[in-house]
Amino acid sequence: MTHHDHAEKMCAVTCCPCHIDLEKVKERSNNPKYICGTCGRVANSEQYVCDPQPIS
Ligand SMILES: [Zn+2]
Repeated sequence: MTHHDHAEKMCAVTCCPCHIDLEKVKERSNNPKYICGTCGRVANSEQYVCDPQPIS
C-alpha cells in the first residue's frame, strides 16, 4: 500500500482536522455500505476504509 492509497481512505482523510476535505468526505459517505472495523468510520465503498466491514 502506498502512502497515496492510504491518504484516500476515509480514516486518513478525517483523522486530523487539518487534513479534512469535506467534499471528499461527503461524496464518499453519503450512502455508506461499509464501516471501518478499526475506527468506525463509514464509506460508500470498501476501498475508502482501512478495515471494511459490510453494513447489513
Ligand atoms: Zn479506519
